[in-house]
Amino acid sequence: MARCLIGCGSNQGARREQLDRAIELLGTMPGIRLEAVSRHRETRPIGGPPDQAPFLNGACLIDTDLAPHDLLGLLAAVENTLHRDRSERWGPRTVDLDLLLYDDTVIDDGDGAPLTVPHPRMTTRRFVLEPAVEIAPDLRHPLSGLTLRDLLDNISRPHLHVAVVGVAGAGAPAVAEAVADATLARHLHAEMTIPWEIADVAAWEAALAAAAGPQVDLEWPPDPHGTVSDHWLGELIVAAEEALAPEALRRFAALHEAATAAVMPAHVAVFLRLSPGALAGRPDGARLARHQDRLLARLRCRARAAAVAPPSVVVVAADDPSRAVDEAIAAVEATA
Ligand code: ATP
Ligand code: CA
Ligand code: CA
Ligand code: CA
Repeated sequence: MARCLIGCGSNQGARREQLDRAIELLGTMPGIRLEAVSRHRETRPIGGPPDQAPFLNGACLIDTDLAPHDLLGLLAAVENTLHRDRSERWGPRTVDLDLLLYDDTVIDDGDGAPLTVPHPRMTTRRFVLEPAVEIAPDLRHPLSGLTLRDLLDNISRPHLHVAVVGVAGAGAPAVAEAVADATLARHLHAEMTIPWEIADVAAWEAALAAAAGPQVDLEWPPDPHGTVSDHWLGELIVAAEEALAPEALRRFAALHEAATAAVMPAHVAVFLRLSPGALAGRPDGARLARHQDRLLARLRCRARAAAVAPPSVVVVAADDPSRAVDEAIAAVEATA
């Protein structure tokens, strides 16, 4: 039996009745046992067309012997029964059922795949985490290793630091600026240049100083708008592990640790992921592809704490810049 967390939402029609009906239908399906249901709460819409009606959001916990893709198919079938319209991305819906967690299973077959678990946008969504914490506060999110309560606490701090992260060319500087603008946050820019071809630690130290400089001695006031930066210091150590010989890496790692300790860690990473196709078209494509994979793996692996990975990581497709901006803004707005 797998324990699964399902997120439920509705902002069209008889919201409460439809949510209740969807959960009831789910519970009567063979292979599913309903374990807990949160209350529904009203939330404001995030992303999608303007002037959408407010949502009712909830969550439920089930035990199932269905496989992940079969469970997803069943959620879609329940949505269809309740006349879900899928014509517009993030558009109004009678019922939306998302598979948030399937035990500690991780499935990430890239952007546009039929199923990604954990749900890729759940760790910054207050409208997801609040009902989830009501019914399963100690359930663990397998990528971050944190409980749902920890993830909710993480996005609830008075001054949130969001780092927009991506390999060179993924668009982090422009996206960070747009997110800061849209959310009224302080915008923090630093040059993140990776001296791939240089074996000398001094060059890496200079790159580190350029990246960390704007953050050193910065004040982190308790204001609600937060800070959006366009870089993550951890990127330099991930690159150094690839580019430097062991002795040089040891020296750089010590410098990096000191620099990291002197700046405010990021609480949320918005990771701009380029598709394999987009990377293949670049002169440096093979190395960038490898670096992107290692960077995302490190962001998600908080156990290897050398780079102090942020608790919440949201992956955004970066090939289409204007869509990446919309997704990044929605991810950050969802924390409020
Ligand atoms: P969001 O996923 O940001 O909450 P949404 O719920 O409005 O947006 P939908 O239109 O309901 O998105 O779903 C789009 C596609 O997402 C579906 O076709 C589905 O196959 C896919 N999908 C991938 N992973 C999941 C998941 N964990 N739960 C639900 N759908 C998923
Ligand atoms: Ca049943
Ligand atoms: Ca959804
Ligand atoms: Ca959905």
